[in-house]
Formats: sequence, structure tokens, C-alpha cells
Amino acid sequence: MQRKKLFAANWKMHKNPSQASHFVRDFLEILPRHAGREIVLCPPAICIPATVAAVKGSQIHVGGQNLHWEKAGAFTGEISAAMLVAAGCTHVIIGHSERRQYFAETDTTVNKKLMAALTAGLTPIVCVGEMLSEREAGDTDDILRRQCTEAFREISVESAAKLTIAYEPCWAIGTGKTATPKMAAEAHATIRAEAANIFGKQFAKTLRILYGGSVKPDNAAELMAEGEIDGALVGGASLEVKSFAEIVNS
Ligand code: PEP
Repeated sequence: MQRKKLFAANWKMHKNPSQASHFVRDFLEILPRHAGREIVLCPPAICIPATVAAVKGSQIHVGGQNLHWEKAGAFTGEISAAMLVAAGCTHVIIGHSERRQYFAETDTTVNKKLMAALTAGLTPIVCVGEMLSEREAGDTDDILRRQCTEAFREISVESAAKLTIAYEPCWAIGTGKTATPKMAAEAHATIRAEAANIFGKQFAKTLRILYGGSVKPDNAAELMAEGEIDGALVGGASLEVKSFAEIVNS
């Protein structure tokens, strides 16, 4: 089963609107075409309009880094799925480990956000992954199964069509430590098996599972050669035009 590889840049809290526009201009200069690969830039919310304007006419997509599950209301500082769509986003990251760790996101809020994103027609990139202590205790598979089961609760296979997962072991994010292709493949297989239990085997075969955690130009090719890995969610190395382009080309 051939799944189109997806490369998503998570810029976290980096870049202002002008820096975002310059990134896109320089990126398109060195990577004007990238047939067969989907590229998504997820800038800080304040940069979404500038990034959307800069990618116009290219094949690059823009995504949010987060969303609120309600449509509108008294939720200071929050952004709804419909607002992301109206601003030109097609994708959204949900449940990033930094959101879980620093902003008290739980499997329950991930589930609500996933429902809101799917209802709005966004392609959600749902992040799952174990902490170092959980891996060392041999609990990785249980953690991944629980995170998937809770995230997918009450979501129908029909509505889940655009679902994308990012396996991001917390100990590999921003640390320079990367899961080996074998470790990532094992975790992806667990996630795919759980998706098959919940949504059926056919769905699981087409489900894209990205790897994230210190992906760099020098380790991307080896990771992307692993059949279970359908692309990458890239933090630090996506901030530089050259390194992100090298990863996409890997
Ligand atoms: C991330 O932010 O999702 C991520 C994987 O970061 P980094 O590539 O810097 O580890």
C-alpha cells in the first residue's frame, strides 16, 4: 500500500509574519516542485495569514498548531477550527506533547479537538507518544493504545478519513535523541493495529503515521526508508529552509 509521504513543519513559537513569508519565498526557490510528497507548514497563529499568502500558487499547505473544540465563545486566546479554515489552513496539529505537558491537554481534550477538526474538514495530525520513564518501564505499547483509543472515541470511520497520526516519543522531541527506524516501526505498527481494531483493517492500511522527534537532514533518509514511516513532523530542523528542504528530499 503506497501512502503519500507528508512532511509537516512545526515552527512552535518561532518566527514573525515577515520571517514566515521570507522562509516560504526561499524554500520555494530551492524546492519549487515536490511531486508525491505533501508539505505542510504550521506557523504560530499570528503568522498564518502571511504564510497562506506566501504559499499561494504552490503545493504547500498551511496548518494550525492547535485549536479549540468549541465553534465560538468566551475562550480568551483560543482559535476555533472554522477560524483556521477561514484563514486558509487545511491541516492542524492536535495533542502535541508540549501542549499535553505545559498546557494540561489530556486524551479527552485531544478527542474533542479531533472531532472539531474533522467536522470542519481539516486534516488533523494527532500526536501520540510515550515518555522516557514509560518506555523504560516497558509500557510504550499500552500508552500508545490508550492514547489512540481515547483520541478516536466516538469517531466514525467515515468521518475519520483525513486522520493522520504523528508518533512522537517525548524523549526524542527537541533533545537530539532519535528513535531508531526499528523502534519507530514497532511503535507505528502498534498504532496501526489499534487503528485497525477501531476503524477496520482497510482504514488502517491507508492511515498515514508520521514520525517526529529530532528528525534532521542526516537521519531523515534512514527513517523515511522504513516502510511504516509515512513522513515526518519536524520541529527544530524545520526552522531553517535548507535543512527542511533536505528532509523533504530525503
Ligand atoms: C516537534 O515539535 O513535533 C518535534 C518533533 O520537534 P523536534 O523535531 O525539534 O524534535
